[in-house]
Amino acid sequence: MRKKLIDRIDAFKDATLVKKKGLYPYFRSIESAQDTEVIIGGKKVLMFGSNSYLGLTNHPKIKEAAKLAIDKYGTGCAGSRLLNGSLDIHLQLENRLAKYVSKEAAVLFSTGFQANLGVISCLLDRNDFLILDEYDHASIIDGSRLSFSRIIKYAHNDMDDLRKKLSRLPEDAAKLIVSDGIFSMEGDLVNLPELVKIADEFGANVMIDDAHSLGVIGFNGAGTASHFNLNNSVDLIMGTFSKSFASLGGFIAGDASTIEYIKHHARSLIFSASMPPSAVASVIAALDIVESEPERIDKLWENTNYAKKLLIESGFYIGPSNSPIIPVYIRDNMKTFMITNILQENGVFVNPVVSPAVPSHSSLIRFSLMATHSFKQIEIAIEKLTAAFKAVDLSLVDV
Ligand code: PMP
Repeated sequence: MRKKLIDRIDAFKDATLVKKKGLYPYFRSIESAQDTEVIIGGKKVLMFGSNSYLGLTNHPKIKEAAKLAIDKYGTGCAGSRLLNGSLDIHLQLENRLAKYVSKEAAVLFSTGFQANLGVISCLLDRNDFLILDEYDHASIIDGSRLSFSRIIKYAHNDMDDLRKKLSRLPEDAAKLIVSDGIFSMEGDLVNLPELVKIADEFGANVMIDDAHSLGVIGFNGAGTASHFNLNNSVDLIMGTFSKSFASLGGFIAGDASTIEYIKHHARSLIFSASMPPSAVASVIAALDIVESEPERIDKLWENTNYAKKLLIESGFYIGPSNSPIIPVYIRDNMKTFMITNILQENGVFVNPVVSPAVPSHSSLIRFSLMATHSFKQIEIAIEKLTAAFKAVDLSLVDV
Protein backbone atom coordinates (compact mmCIF):
# COMPACT_ATOMS: atom_id res chain seq x y z
CA MET A 1 0.00 0.00 0.00
CA ARG A 2 1.25 3.51 -0.77
CA LYS A 3 2.02 5.91 2.07
CA LYS A 4 -1.29 7.80 2.40
CA LEU A 5 -3.36 4.64 2.53
CA ILE A 6 -0.97 3.01 5.00
CA ASP A 7 -1.42 6.01 7.35
CA ARG A 8 -5.18 5.63 7.25
CA ILE A 9 -5.03 1.88 7.81
CA ASP A 10 -2.57 2.27 10.70
CA ALA A 11 -4.78 4.93 12.29
CA PHE A 12 -7.71 2.52 12.08
CA LYS A 13 -5.66 -0.23 13.75
CA ASP A 14 -4.92 2.08 16.67
CA ALA A 15 -8.58 2.99 16.95
CA THR A 16 -9.68 -0.59 17.44
CA LEU A 17 -9.17 -0.54 21.17
CA VAL A 18 -12.09 -2.91 21.51
CA LYS A 19 -10.05 -5.55 19.71
CA LYS A 20 -7.15 -5.17 22.12
CA LYS A 21 -9.52 -5.58 25.04
CA GLY A 22 -10.98 -8.73 23.51
CA LEU A 23 -14.37 -7.05 23.12
CA TYR A 24 -14.61 -6.98 19.32
CA PRO A 25 -18.27 -7.84 18.54
CA TYR A 26 -18.37 -7.87 14.73
CA PHE A 27 -18.04 -10.57 12.06
CA ARG A 28 -18.83 -13.27 14.63
CA SER A 29 -18.75 -16.66 12.95
CA ILE A 30 -22.00 -18.64 13.23
CA GLU A 31 -21.89 -22.37 12.52
CA SER A 32 -25.62 -23.06 12.07
CA ALA A 33 -28.84 -21.78 10.48
CA GLN A 34 -30.20 -18.41 11.60
CA ASP A 35 -32.76 -19.59 14.16
CA THR A 36 -33.76 -18.67 17.71
CA GLU A 37 -30.72 -20.68 18.78
CA VAL A 38 -27.43 -20.65 16.85
CA ILE A 39 -24.08 -22.38 17.31
CA ILE A 40 -21.03 -20.18 17.93
CA GLY A 41 -17.68 -21.73 18.81
CA GLY A 42 -19.43 -25.08 19.21
CA LYS A 43 -21.79 -23.63 21.87
CA LYS A 44 -25.54 -22.97 21.70
CA VAL A 45 -26.39 -19.27 21.90
CA LEU A 46 -29.87 -17.70 22.02
CA MET A 47 -30.28 -15.42 19.01
CA PHE A 48 -31.76 -11.99 19.80
CA GLY A 49 -29.92 -10.13 17.04
CA SER A 50 -31.50 -11.44 13.87
CA ASN A 51 -33.67 -9.65 11.31
CA SER A 52 -35.44 -12.92 10.52
CA TYR A 53 -38.59 -11.53 12.16
CA LEU A 54 -40.88 -14.37 11.09
CA GLY A 55 -38.26 -17.06 11.79
CA LEU A 56 -38.46 -18.40 8.21
CA THR A 57 -34.79 -18.75 7.23
CA ASN A 58 -34.69 -22.45 8.12
CA HIS A 59 -38.25 -23.34 7.03
CA PRO A 60 -38.42 -26.72 5.21
CA LYS A 61 -40.81 -25.48 2.47
CA ILE A 62 -38.60 -22.49 1.67
CA LYS A 63 -35.44 -24.59 1.63
CA GLU A 64 -37.15 -27.08 -0.67
CA ALA A 65 -38.22 -24.29 -3.06
CA ALA A 66 -34.63 -23.02 -3.17
CA LYS A 67 -33.29 -26.52 -3.95
CA LEU A 68 -35.86 -27.07 -6.71
CA ALA A 69 -34.95 -23.71 -8.26
CA ILE A 70 -31.28 -24.70 -8.32
CA ASP A 71 -32.21 -27.98 -10.02
CA LYS A 72 -34.24 -26.15 -12.66
CA TYR A 73 -32.30 -22.91 -13.23
CA GLY A 74 -28.81 -23.57 -11.82
CA THR A 75 -26.99 -21.49 -9.23
CA GLY A 76 -26.69 -18.09 -10.89
CA CYS A 77 -27.99 -15.90 -13.71
CA ALA A 78 -24.61 -14.75 -15.04
CA GLY A 79 -25.86 -11.33 -16.05
CA SER A 80 -28.02 -8.34 -15.24
CA ARG A 81 -31.80 -8.21 -15.55
CA LEU A 82 -31.52 -5.91 -18.58
CA LEU A 83 -29.56 -8.46 -20.60
CA ASN A 84 -29.43 -12.22 -19.99
CA GLY A 85 -30.34 -12.28 -16.26
CA SER A 86 -34.19 -12.21 -16.29
CA LEU A 87 -35.92 -15.49 -15.43
CA ASP A 88 -39.65 -16.18 -15.53
CA ILE A 89 -39.56 -16.39 -11.71
CA HIS A 90 -38.14 -12.86 -11.45
CA LEU A 91 -41.20 -11.62 -13.35
CA GLN A 92 -43.54 -13.82 -11.32
CA LEU A 93 -42.13 -12.43 -8.06
CA GLU A 94 -42.40 -8.83 -9.32
CA ASN A 95 -46.09 -9.33 -10.12
CA ARG A 96 -46.72 -10.93 -6.71
CA LEU A 97 -44.95 -8.10 -4.88
CA ALA A 98 -46.80 -5.35 -6.77
CA LYS A 99 -50.13 -6.93 -5.73
CA TYR A 100 -48.88 -7.55 -2.18
CA VAL A 101 -48.14 -3.85 -1.59
CA SER A 102 -51.08 -2.64 -3.78
CA LYS A 103 -49.01 -0.96 -6.49
CA GLU A 104 -49.16 -1.27 -10.30
CA ALA A 105 -45.66 -2.64 -10.78
CA ALA A 106 -42.44 -3.65 -9.05
CA VAL A 107 -38.85 -4.37 -10.02
CA LEU A 108 -36.32 -6.54 -8.18
CA PHE A 109 -32.78 -5.53 -7.20
CA SER A 110 -30.06 -7.89 -5.97
CA THR A 111 -30.06 -6.35 -2.48
CA GLY A 112 -32.18 -3.84 -0.59
CA PHE A 113 -29.16 -1.55 -0.41
CA GLN A 114 -28.89 -1.56 -4.20
CA ALA A 115 -32.61 -0.80 -4.51
CA ASN A 116 -32.31 2.41 -2.48
CA LEU A 117 -29.05 3.34 -4.17
CA GLY A 118 -30.36 2.84 -7.70
CA VAL A 119 -33.84 4.30 -7.25
CA ILE A 120 -32.93 7.48 -5.39
CA SER A 121 -29.91 8.26 -7.56
CA CYS A 122 -31.80 7.87 -10.83
CA LEU A 123 -34.96 9.79 -9.91
CA LEU A 124 -33.38 13.05 -8.80
CA ASP A 125 -31.08 15.51 -10.42
CA ARG A 126 -28.99 18.57 -9.51
CA ASN A 127 -31.94 20.96 -9.30
CA ASP A 128 -34.20 18.63 -7.32
CA PHE A 129 -34.63 18.28 -3.56
CA LEU A 130 -34.36 15.14 -1.47
CA ILE A 131 -35.88 15.47 1.97
CA LEU A 132 -34.65 12.85 4.44
CA ASP A 133 -35.30 11.90 8.05
CA GLU A 134 -31.98 12.33 9.89
CA TYR A 135 -32.17 8.65 10.96
CA ASP A 136 -32.79 7.21 7.47
CA HIS A 137 -30.82 4.10 6.55
CA ALA A 138 -27.27 4.37 5.15
CA SER A 139 -28.43 3.10 1.73
CA ILE A 140 -30.80 6.08 1.44
CA ILE A 141 -28.02 8.48 2.38
CA ASP A 142 -25.66 6.92 -0.17
CA GLY A 143 -28.37 7.00 -2.85
CA SER A 144 -28.90 10.67 -2.11
CA ARG A 145 -25.17 11.38 -2.49
CA LEU A 146 -25.11 9.65 -5.87
CA SER A 147 -28.13 11.64 -7.06
CA PHE A 148 -26.21 14.96 -6.81
CA SER A 149 -29.50 16.54 -5.75
CA ARG A 150 -29.88 19.00 -2.90
CA ILE A 151 -30.28 17.14 0.37
CA ILE A 152 -32.35 18.50 3.23
CA LYS A 153 -32.56 16.57 6.51
CA TYR A 154 -35.31 17.03 9.09
CA ALA A 155 -35.16 16.06 12.77
CA HIS A 156 -36.13 12.44 13.39
CA ASN A 157 -39.86 11.93 12.78
CA ASP A 158 -40.42 15.62 13.60
CA MET A 159 -43.27 16.70 11.35
CA ASP A 160 -43.06 20.38 12.39
CA ASP A 161 -39.45 20.41 11.24
CA LEU A 162 -40.41 18.66 7.98
CA ARG A 163 -43.03 21.34 7.30
CA LYS A 164 -40.56 24.12 8.14
CA LYS A 165 -37.90 22.70 5.82
CA LEU A 166 -40.35 22.18 2.94
CA SER A 167 -41.81 25.67 3.27
CA ARG A 168 -38.38 27.14 2.39
CA LEU A 169 -38.07 25.29 -0.93
CA PRO A 170 -39.11 26.66 -4.35
CA GLU A 171 -42.72 25.74 -5.07
CA ASP A 172 -42.08 24.37 -8.55
CA ALA A 173 -38.99 22.24 -7.70
CA ALA A 174 -39.19 18.44 -7.78
CA LYS A 175 -39.15 17.08 -4.21
CA LEU A 176 -38.96 13.56 -2.84
CA ILE A 177 -39.38 12.75 0.85
CA VAL A 178 -37.77 9.42 1.79
CA SER A 179 -38.29 7.83 5.18
CA ASP A 180 -37.81 4.45 6.79
CA GLY A 181 -41.19 2.90 7.70
CA ILE A 182 -39.91 1.23 10.85
CA PHE A 183 -36.56 2.81 11.77
CA SER A 184 -33.81 0.20 11.71
CA MET A 185 -32.02 1.07 14.93
CA GLU A 186 -34.64 2.80 17.09
CA GLY A 187 -37.55 0.53 16.10
CA ASP A 188 -40.08 3.38 15.99
CA LEU A 189 -42.63 3.97 13.24
CA VAL A 190 -42.77 6.93 10.83
CA ASN A 191 -45.66 9.33 11.43
CA LEU A 192 -47.01 8.56 7.97
CA PRO A 193 -50.49 10.18 8.26
CA GLU A 194 -48.91 13.56 9.05
CA LEU A 195 -46.02 13.07 6.59
CA VAL A 196 -48.32 12.46 3.60
CA LYS A 197 -50.53 15.40 4.58
CA ILE A 198 -47.48 17.71 4.56
CA ALA A 199 -46.17 16.16 1.31
CA ASP A 200 -49.52 16.93 -0.29
CA GLU A 201 -49.49 20.50 0.98
CA PHE A 202 -46.04 21.16 -0.57
CA GLY A 203 -46.36 19.01 -3.71
CA ALA A 204 -43.69 16.47 -2.67
CA ASN A 205 -43.53 12.78 -3.61
CA VAL A 206 -43.15 10.13 -0.91
CA MET A 207 -40.99 7.00 -0.80
CA ILE A 208 -41.06 4.62 2.19
CA ASP A 209 -38.30 2.10 2.96
CA ASP A 210 -40.18 -0.90 4.35
CA ALA A 211 -37.14 -3.12 4.97
CA HIS A 212 -38.21 -3.71 8.58
CA SER A 213 -41.97 -3.33 8.08
CA LEU A 214 -42.72 -6.04 5.50
CA GLY A 215 -43.94 -9.20 7.19
CA VAL A 216 -44.33 -7.16 10.38
CA ILE A 217 -47.08 -4.52 10.02
CA GLY A 218 -50.04 -3.91 7.67
CA PHE A 219 -52.46 -6.39 6.12
CA ASN A 220 -50.63 -9.76 5.95
CA GLY A 221 -47.45 -7.81 6.65
CA ALA A 222 -47.78 -5.56 3.58
CA GLY A 223 -45.95 -2.72 5.32
CA THR A 224 -46.30 0.83 6.57
CA ALA A 225 -48.69 2.27 3.95
CA SER A 226 -51.02 -0.69 4.43
CA HIS A 227 -50.79 -0.33 8.24
CA PHE A 228 -52.05 3.27 8.00
CA ASN A 229 -54.40 2.54 5.10
CA LEU A 230 -52.52 5.11 3.01
CA ASN A 231 -51.44 3.05 -0.01
CA ASN A 232 -52.49 5.73 -2.48
CA SER A 233 -50.58 8.48 -0.72
CA VAL A 234 -47.20 6.73 -0.88
CA ASP A 235 -45.67 6.88 -4.36
CA LEU A 236 -42.88 4.35 -3.92
CA ILE A 237 -42.55 1.40 -1.55
CA MET A 238 -39.12 -0.18 -1.15
CA GLY A 239 -38.56 -3.55 0.52
CA THR A 240 -35.86 -6.15 1.20
CA PHE A 241 -35.92 -9.94 1.37
CA SER A 242 -33.07 -10.18 3.88
CA LYS A 243 -35.32 -9.85 6.90
CA SER A 244 -38.85 -11.37 7.15
CA PHE A 245 -38.56 -12.96 3.70
CA ALA A 246 -35.71 -15.32 4.53
CA SER A 247 -33.57 -14.55 1.49
CA LEU A 248 -31.50 -11.81 -0.14
CA GLY A 249 -32.61 -9.10 -2.57
CA GLY A 250 -34.82 -6.05 -2.68
CA PHE A 251 -37.50 -4.30 -4.73
CA ILE A 252 -39.20 -1.03 -5.47
CA ALA A 253 -42.94 -0.80 -6.23
CA GLY A 254 -44.91 2.11 -7.66
CA ASP A 255 -46.92 3.20 -10.70
CA ALA A 256 -46.12 1.39 -13.93
CA SER A 257 -44.44 4.30 -15.73
CA THR A 258 -42.15 5.15 -12.80
CA ILE A 259 -41.07 1.51 -12.50
CA GLU A 260 -40.43 1.39 -16.25
CA TYR A 261 -38.23 4.50 -15.92
CA ILE A 262 -36.33 2.98 -12.98
CA LYS A 263 -35.78 -0.26 -14.93
CA HIS A 264 -33.94 1.73 -17.60
CA HIS A 265 -32.06 4.23 -15.41
CA ALA A 266 -31.12 2.65 -12.06
CA ARG A 267 -27.42 1.88 -12.43
CA SER A 268 -27.28 -0.63 -9.55
CA LEU A 269 -29.89 -2.65 -11.44
CA ILE A 270 -28.54 -2.31 -14.96
CA PHE A 271 -24.87 -2.85 -14.15
CA SER A 272 -25.16 -5.62 -11.58
CA ALA A 273 -26.12 -9.30 -11.87
CA SER A 274 -29.68 -10.33 -11.01
CA MET A 275 -30.92 -12.20 -7.94
CA PRO A 276 -29.93 -15.89 -8.16
CA PRO A 277 -32.74 -18.43 -8.78
CA SER A 278 -32.59 -19.95 -5.28
CA ALA A 279 -33.00 -16.52 -3.68
CA VAL A 280 -36.00 -15.65 -5.91
CA ALA A 281 -37.70 -19.00 -5.26
CA SER A 282 -37.13 -18.59 -1.49
CA VAL A 283 -38.94 -15.26 -1.51
CA ILE A 284 -41.90 -16.69 -3.48
CA ALA A 285 -42.17 -19.57 -0.98
CA ALA A 286 -41.82 -17.17 1.97
CA LEU A 287 -44.54 -14.92 0.53
CA ASP A 288 -46.84 -17.97 0.22
CA ILE A 289 -46.30 -18.69 3.92
CA VAL A 290 -46.68 -15.06 5.03
CA GLU A 291 -49.98 -14.72 3.13
CA SER A 292 -51.44 -18.07 4.21
CA GLU A 293 -50.28 -18.12 7.86
CA PRO A 294 -51.06 -14.69 9.33
CA GLU A 295 -50.78 -16.21 12.82
CA ARG A 296 -46.99 -15.94 12.44
CA ILE A 297 -47.26 -12.15 12.48
CA ASP A 298 -49.59 -12.36 15.51
CA LYS A 299 -46.99 -14.48 17.32
CA LEU A 300 -44.23 -11.99 16.42
CA TRP A 301 -46.30 -9.23 18.05
CA GLU A 302 -47.10 -11.37 21.12
CA ASN A 303 -43.37 -11.91 21.58
CA THR A 304 -42.59 -8.25 20.95
CA ASN A 305 -45.17 -7.05 23.49
CA TYR A 306 -44.04 -9.62 26.06
CA ALA A 307 -40.37 -8.60 25.69
CA LYS A 308 -41.24 -4.90 25.90
CA LYS A 309 -43.29 -5.48 29.05
CA LEU A 310 -40.49 -7.47 30.72
CA LEU A 311 -37.81 -4.96 29.71
CA ILE A 312 -39.80 -2.02 31.04
CA GLU A 313 -40.68 -3.90 34.27
CA SER A 314 -36.97 -4.70 34.68
CA GLY A 315 -36.20 -0.96 34.50
CA PHE A 316 -34.65 -0.67 31.03
CA TYR A 317 -35.12 2.45 28.91
CA ILE A 318 -36.23 1.36 25.42
CA GLY A 319 -37.37 4.65 23.86
CA PRO A 320 -40.47 4.87 21.62
CA SER A 321 -39.92 1.49 19.88
CA ASN A 322 -43.06 0.23 18.22
CA SER A 323 -41.74 -2.92 16.55
CA PRO A 324 -39.75 -6.15 17.07
CA ILE A 325 -36.60 -3.99 17.10
CA ILE A 326 -36.16 -2.95 20.72
CA PRO A 327 -33.24 -0.62 21.51
CA VAL A 328 -31.83 -0.90 25.02
CA TYR A 329 -29.99 2.38 25.51
CA ILE A 330 -26.53 2.38 27.09
CA ARG A 331 -25.10 5.67 25.75
CA ASP A 332 -21.47 4.57 26.15
CA ASN A 333 -19.65 2.74 23.36
CA MET A 334 -17.24 0.74 25.51
CA LYS A 335 -19.97 -0.38 27.93
CA THR A 336 -22.14 -1.36 24.95
CA PHE A 337 -19.31 -3.62 23.72
CA MET A 338 -18.73 -4.99 27.24
CA ILE A 339 -22.40 -5.91 27.66
CA THR A 340 -22.52 -7.57 24.23
CA ASN A 341 -19.47 -9.61 25.21
CA ILE A 342 -20.81 -10.66 28.62
CA LEU A 343 -24.12 -11.67 27.04
CA GLN A 344 -22.41 -13.80 24.43
CA GLU A 345 -20.31 -15.53 27.10
CA ASN A 346 -23.59 -16.23 28.90
CA GLY A 347 -25.29 -17.61 25.82
CA VAL A 348 -27.19 -14.64 24.32
CA PHE A 349 -26.40 -12.95 20.98
CA VAL A 350 -27.38 -9.28 20.63
CA ASN A 351 -26.11 -6.51 18.35
CA PRO A 352 -24.19 -3.53 19.68
CA VAL A 353 -25.07 -0.31 17.85
CA VAL A 354 -22.68 2.63 18.06
CA SER A 355 -21.87 5.70 15.95
CA PRO A 356 -22.20 6.19 12.95
CA ALA A 357 -25.25 3.86 12.93
CA VAL A 358 -26.72 6.03 15.72
CA PRO A 359 -25.59 9.42 17.11
CA SER A 360 -22.55 8.99 19.38
CA HIS A 361 -24.51 9.71 22.59
CA SER A 362 -27.11 7.04 21.72
CA SER A 363 -25.18 3.76 21.66
CA LEU A 364 -27.47 0.86 22.36
CA ILE A 365 -28.04 -2.87 22.37
CA ARG A 366 -30.43 -3.82 19.58
CA PHE A 367 -32.67 -6.55 20.95
CA SER A 368 -34.63 -8.18 18.07
CA LEU A 369 -37.59 -10.52 18.34
CA MET A 370 -38.62 -13.39 16.08
CA ALA A 371 -42.04 -15.08 15.78
CA THR A 372 -40.39 -18.38 16.66
CA HIS A 373 -38.94 -17.30 20.04
CA SER A 374 -40.58 -18.90 23.07
CA PHE A 375 -41.57 -16.82 26.12
CA LYS A 376 -39.01 -18.87 28.09
CA GLN A 377 -36.20 -17.81 25.71
CA ILE A 378 -37.26 -14.16 26.07
CA GLU A 379 -37.28 -14.45 29.88
CA ILE A 380 -33.79 -16.01 29.95
CA ALA A 381 -32.35 -13.34 27.62
CA ILE A 382 -33.77 -10.45 29.68
CA GLU A 383 -32.52 -12.00 32.96
CA LYS A 384 -29.04 -12.23 31.43
CA LEU A 385 -29.26 -8.67 30.12
CA THR A 386 -30.13 -7.45 33.62
CA ALA A 387 -27.16 -9.38 35.06
CA ALA A 388 -24.83 -7.95 32.38
CA PHE A 389 -25.90 -4.38 33.25
CA LYS A 390 -25.11 -5.10 36.91
CA ALA A 391 -21.74 -6.60 35.97
CA VAL A 392 -20.62 -3.39 34.24
CA ASP A 393 -22.14 -1.32 37.00
CA LEU A 394 -24.70 0.41 34.79
CA SER A 395 -27.65 1.84 36.62
CA LEU A 396 -30.81 1.03 34.70
CA VAL A 397 -32.68 4.24 35.42
CA ASP A 398 -29.88 6.66 34.45
CA VAL A 399 -29.42 5.54 30.84
N1 PMP B 1 -33.05 -0.22 4.35
C1 PMP B 1 -33.06 -0.43 5.67
C2 PMP B 1 -33.94 0.40 6.54
C3 PMP B 1 -32.26 -1.46 6.21
O1 PMP B 1 -32.26 -1.66 7.53
C4 PMP B 1 -31.47 -2.23 5.35
C5 PMP B 1 -30.59 -3.36 5.88
N2 PMP B 1 -30.19 -3.32 7.15
C6 PMP B 1 -31.48 -1.96 3.99
C7 PMP B 1 -32.29 -0.95 3.52
C8 PMP B 1 -30.62 -2.75 3.04
O2 PMP B 1 -31.18 -3.99 2.84
P1 PMP B 1 -30.31 -5.27 2.42
O3 PMP B 1 -29.66 -5.79 3.67
O4 PMP B 1 -31.33 -6.19 1.89
O5 PMP B 1 -29.33 -4.84 1.41
